[in-house]
Amino acid sequence: MVDVSVVVPCFDESEVIGAFHAAVVAALEPTGTAFEICYVDDGSRDGTVERLRELARADARVRYTSFSRNFGKESAMLAGMRMSRGAAVVLMDADLQHPPELLPRMLELHQHGYDQVVAQRDRSGEGAVRKAFSRAYYRLVRRFMEVEVVDGAGDFRLLSRRAVAAVLSLPESNRFSKGLFSWIGFDTVSFRYENAARAAGASKWGGRRLLNYGIDGLLSFNSRPLRLAVHSGLWLFLSALAYALWIVANALLDGVDTPGYATLITAIVGLSGVQLATLGVIGEYVGRIYHESKRRPHYVVRETERDASGDPAADR
Ligand code: UDP
Ligand code: MG
Repeated sequence: MVDVSVVVPCFDESEVIGAFHAAVVAALEPTGTAFEICYVDDGSRDGTVERLRELARADARVRYTSFSRNFGKESAMLAGMRMSRGAAVVLMDADLQHPPELLPRMLELHQHGYDQVVAQRDRSGEGAVRKAFSRAYYRLVRRFMEVEVVDGAGDFRLLSRRAVAAVLSLPESNRFSKGLFSWIGFDTVSFRYENAARAAGASKWGGRRLLNYGIDGLLSFNSRPLRLAVHSGLWLFLSALAYALWIVANALLDGVDTPGYATLITAIVGLSGVQLATLGVIGEYVGRIYHESKRRPHYVVRETERDASGDPAADR
């Protein structure tokens, strides 16, 4: 029986993985809980798998799955939750930005009956620009999304077994976990901790990647952008109608010739802009439907700890 599974997505983390492992073991061993650590190597190219093999050989509590290529953190977390066997699951990053010292506290809160325990970071270890963007983004998200997403409440959280089951029961391929965790509900408690800078290596979230992640998050949880498109279309139509009436009235009452090359061009260009933007919004959703309808698996596994220990065909 395993009390806690620690699920760790790793992408090019060979520099920190050893220190991370030692820190987690040091934090959990004194609590006397039976734990396992499920590492998911997300197609790393820097020898992270070799590190994981070594760890698994040295420590029976280590299990791992290695992907055939980089499938993204969301897929890695999914794989980790699927392989986990613990009565509770903790999701955390490998780069020591999620302090393992907090684990006992999370377990304790879980024992008080909470299904989700969220460690909420402040943004002290981050650059000013990124901080500002994150703030603005979450403000936007709060206005748009039907589920509640809190700034700083990242993926460092503990989930009870039934919460994990609920997350795993959601079949979508476009996974935005922050939204999923909020969608499943259950009693949730959160506490704050001070953000630490990365222990080694670099963040894989450049500007573009974050932007795409942000768009995904906005679109995967609601259809309000579509509603917005409908609204702007309606308003434009109404104002065009009013303007047309005004022109007609003017012509009839005052006998004014209808001047209007500039008006015409402005109207055409303006409307085309709105139409294109709207098409774009629709396209985003259609693209998502297309993506979902392919029903592809979220990842492809290259190797697990069972391959490393003995029979290589055991898992296939
Ligand atoms: N990660 C992953 N796949 C990816 C990108 C990141 O599994 O494609 C992992 C990474 O190894 C780390 C965690 O996700 O454990 C968070 O990544 P990172 O530290 O780069 O993100 P940040 O802390 O800057 O948000
Ligand atoms: Mg990080």
